[in-house]
Amino acid sequence: MYTISKPTGDYYKVKLKVGEIVEATLFGESTQMFGKIISIIKHTWNNNQEYIFLCFKWLKNLNEADTLLGCPIYQIQHLDNDSFNQIHPLSVVLQSSNIPFIHYCKSSCSFQQHDTTDYEYIRNDFFFKAI
Ligand SMILES: [Zn+2]
Repeated sequence: MYTISKPTGDYYKVKLKVGEIVEATLFGESTQMFGKIISIIKHTWNNNQEYIFLCFKWLKNLNEADTLLGCPIYQIQHLDNDSFNQIHPLSVVLQSSNIPFIHYCKSSCSFQQHDTTDYEYIRNDFFFKAI
């Protein structure tokens, strides 16, 4: 659980964990993206203030839908280089994950383990929070 303070003095809390897919808005970007958190980095600056950074692998919407569920299919993007485009401050995440993604299992997945070489996920549009 992390608390993010805005320049205005307002703050909000997010709950994150490695492996989770979250919605993020990058600086200078108007569209929101989905990224899988692959690591959480804590850096202590000279002023003893702690800064949290997230390392992402971004998901690309394949503009396809599962034939049975009709849910959109996403694929984890693989960049040719490990650029810093993958590391962003915690503040790019506006809220705790509320859009669940599940592995788009193929026949190579077993009951015990997903096939880690398969990078496709489906966005579960049937998930909602009861009010
Ligand atoms: Zn699977």
